[in-house]
Amino acid sequence: MACEGEVPFNSLQVLSQARRVSNSPLSLQNETTNHELKSCKFKSCSLHSFKKESSSLSLLSNRDELDSESHLDYKSGAIYDGGLIDNHKFGNGTFLWPNGDKYIGEFKLNYRHGFGIQVWNDGSTYEGYFYEDRRSGQGTHKWKNGDTYTGNWLLDYRHGFGKYSWKDGNVFEGMFFMNNREGFGTLMYSSGDLYLGLYKKDSRYGPGILKYPNNTQDVGFWNGDTLVRILTPVDINFTANDLEPVDKKIDLKSWFSRENLLYDTLNPQNLFSNKIFSTQSNKFIRNDPYIDKVIQQRTLFYEQYLKEFEKYLQLKNFNQLEYRKDKQVIIPNITDNLKNIFIFQKRFDFYDKTCVNVLDFSVKDFESMNREKFGSPGLIETYSIELLNACIQKNWEGVKVLKNLVNFDVCDNRGYSPIIIAILKCDSVLINYLLDNGANINHLLDNGLSGLMICMIRYYTSDKFLPNSALKHQDLTLTRKITPYSLVVPSQDEVVQNEKENTIQNFEDAYTVVGESTKPSEFGSTHSLLRFKVQLNEDLVCKYTDIMSKNENLDQFNENDSNKKLLKKSTQLQFLNDIGQIIDLLLRRGADPSLSSIPYPALCFAVAAGDIKVVKLLLEKGADCNKKMPKKYASLTPLCLACGVLGETGPELVKLLLDSLADPNASSDMGNEYLSMSEEGWKNEIVSDEIANLIVGRTPLHIACSRNDPYASKVIRLLLEHSANPNMICNGQSPLSLAIASGNKEAIDLLLKSNLCDPNLPLTNGVGSALCVISSTLYEHNWLPHERIKLIDKLIHYGADILQPIAFGARRYVGTVVDYAHYMYNSDNRLAHTPYHSLTINERNAHNARKNLLSHLAYRYREKALERARVTISGMDYTNSNRRSWGTAIRTKKSDDMMTESDFKSDKKLMKWCYYCGRSVGVKLMPCSRCKKVYYCSNNCKQRGWNELHKNECELPESAQRNKSALKNRKSATNKKDLSLGHNDRNAFGGQRISMNPDFNGLDNYSFN
Ligand SMILES: [Zn+2]
Ligand SMILES: [Zn+2]
Repeated sequence: MACEGEVPFNSLQVLSQARRVSNSPLSLQNETTNHELKSCKFKSCSLHSFKKESSSLSLLSNRDELDSESHLDYKSGAIYDGGLIDNHKFGNGTFLWPNGDKYIGEFKLNYRHGFGIQVWNDGSTYEGYFYEDRRSGQGTHKWKNGDTYTGNWLLDYRHGFGKYSWKDGNVFEGMFFMNNREGFGTLMYSSGDLYLGLYKKDSRYGPGILKYPNNTQDVGFWNGDTLVRILTPVDINFTANDLEPVDKKIDLKSWFSRENLLYDTLNPQNLFSNKIFSTQSNKFIRNDPYIDKVIQQRTLFYEQYLKEFEKYLQLKNFNQLEYRKDKQVIIPNITDNLKNIFIFQKRFDFYDKTCVNVLDFSVKDFESMNREKFGSPGLIETYSIELLNACIQKNWEGVKVLKNLVNFDVCDNRGYSPIIIAILKCDSVLINYLLDNGANINHLLDNGLSGLMICMIRYYTSDKFLPNSALKHQDLTLTRKITPYSLVVPSQDEVVQNEKENTIQNFEDAYTVVGESTKPSEFGSTHSLLRFKVQLNEDLVCKYTDIMSKNENLDQFNENDSNKKLLKKSTQLQFLNDIGQIIDLLLRRGADPSLSSIPYPALCFAVAAGDIKVVKLLLEKGADCNKKMPKKYASLTPLCLACGVLGETGPELVKLLLDSLADPNASSDMGNEYLSMSEEGWKNEIVSDEIANLIVGRTPLHIACSRNDPYASKVIRLLLEHSANPNMICNGQSPLSLAIASGNKEAIDLLLKSNLCDPNLPLTNGVGSALCVISSTLYEHNWLPHERIKLIDKLIHYGADILQPIAFGARRYVGTVVDYAHYMYNSDNRLAHTPYHSLTINERNAHNARKNLLSHLAYRYREKALERARVTISGMDYTNSNRRSWGTAIRTKKSDDMMTESDFKSDKKLMKWCYYCGRSVGVKLMPCSRCKKVYYCSNNCKQRGWNELHKNECELPESAQRNKSALKNRKSATNKKDLSLGHNDRNAFGGQRISMNPDFNGLDNYSFN
């Protein structure tokens, strides 16, 4: 049968059979039928109101020739004898075509409709049901050459369940789909062979058994005459720990499209059944309204169905089909060709049950991969196993012998194919031979590994990975705990060196973060490549050793024998070297570098190892440079990974990736990164939409900016040159804030000079702003005191707004960076609240440095506040003319002294600030008792403010009496101060020493601790 050149089987005998088959008349049948039926179409004018379009054959009578109700002679010579109703052929009748064709059977509205027998002049016959002139329903067609089909028809197609017999004795019984064998069926060859299994487009496709007369059988998955997968495992195994299970879920289009409507008819229960026609066939001619109604109802479905079918025939374009409902199925292997087979098979799950009488096995037996249920293997299966074993034994002469006998892509029940085995065996000769003979280099194991990936896993053992800051959580506040308050800062080179050692150490032991941080520090562990340990399969190495050395006595050496150890070591090195060459070979011969990403993309292996050569090759061969690592590894992109590579290869990797169009802004997952640097309790803060858009995971810039080593700046420069966006926020940190926190001055300069970086970017998670970060005590260990002050000035120079409102602390007070700095200062109980004389030398230095920074901030604040107030003291109250919108949603406790967000926005309340220390929040501000235009937070500030700043500018607006009383007040305040803070008054920093507000503890609703 089989129209499209089916080649059912490999043997010559069957091959010739197939040729004969393809020449069988069935393939011509359509043509013939159309031709013959059309030849009897008359040119008579249509009297028939029900006449269908040209698609249906019209057998209209010519009224001129009408001589009786039961006998019509046509001009062409055709003759009709039979029933007529309103001049339409109706009921039983006989029609004779002029060429000798003949139809005897039922008519309805001039159509052959119902049961009938059609005889063609060449001897072909059809006996069965017609539907509007076309064979539909059960019927038997016999061709003149002797072939026979008995079964379901649909619109002249063999469609549904049927049995086709060739005159040479082959018999197929099973499902048809538009003339092709499709679905489950059996083919009994005249030779005695028997195939049972699934078909697609007339050839085997899917699970099937080929049984031979000698009781052997080839069992497995077929594609045409090829056995593509056997059910037995071969003796090889590759395991690597920690492999993610591959997602084998596939969306299966369900059965609702037009095409599927057709498939639906394959279900024997839904097919045109004889019931429609047979029982009522005679009643067509009777005008029984009840019966008509029943027939109408019963045929309604089929009418609609046929319409759809017509459209389908015209459409012939499956892409336009609409799918409405998908279901997910799990398939064992996702190699393309196997995947298609498995998906196809899944569509017939339902029919598996209904075809039990056809098959003597269930597809379930295939899924359980249980070969024992079947008889002993046949030739094809045996050769397949021999091929796989020859590959395992590296017996490539044996492989050559099997070349034309078996498919080189056959795989066992876990997906091990010859090419995969050759790769596992590091046999480049065999790999080349197999590839030369058409083996699929991109074959995948059932666990999703490609041959290339197997090599990657074995080649890049964990010791090959370079220290990488992207793979662990780098806590920039942490080193502070190790050297508390030490301002004996080592030279920059030493810092870098320490940093390096520190990072390397951290990398070696990624689980434990050094230091005694109270905050959770498990971040790094989840991202560590080191968790992914490859089992280098000791067995394989040993076998390899044996083969390499050709020394059978090797095992007799003592385990501790250093010679053996050495040999083993060198063999191992040789082994790795070989794998490296195979990676090269595979890539050059077309292995798809992005095919498999388990455990993570191949590119990430090479990047993490800093293997420039392989990275180049991978990129050259089209590796996807934006393919992320799995969630387990924080969804890092290769570029993120490259930005974390410490050392000189880092910038080179970054450049390679950027030149290959890696996205410089693609971020990783939002994890716990940098959270230890944010205020507690701010994690779930609601932020404005504007800011929410900026919040991402770690971008390449974040990763690079959190480093402080000479190569980090090169990386940052490259990223900025490729328009990386420096204004993204990850858990409160921007690239700029990270650069400040890590003390990377070069990075800060690069960012500020790029003109892209917004120094006022509101940072979430209570971090505040770039100015807050440098003012914070958290990162001072990365800075020399004078450098911090220099950086504050630099930030202001580049546009940082010292007057910018900042929310901080657990209660979300809104103040400025000055308030934030005081808040941080006071958070450190030891330094802020211990009498100066009890501090150690180092602590005193730190204390002084902090005080110095606070006073510098106050100085810059006063300067800017006055500037903004247009220098006139009368107008110096903080008026917010140029305030940026709020980043963090700030909740403040309403109280008279505290500003709220709405206050800031509306400017209803003018902000007061201490004229001396610059604070505005958490202090009680008292006006200058003389002019009432400036405020002081404490008597100490008042005194110093007066002496150092205000004395000469204070103007007496009112009576001298008030002035006098103010002076009195000041005197008493001074006395009070002397009592409480006397010992603190020594100051190493140019008399700018700022004291604590003595009223601090008196504020019941305010505590920074
Ligand atoms: Zn003050
Ligand atoms: Zn004054």
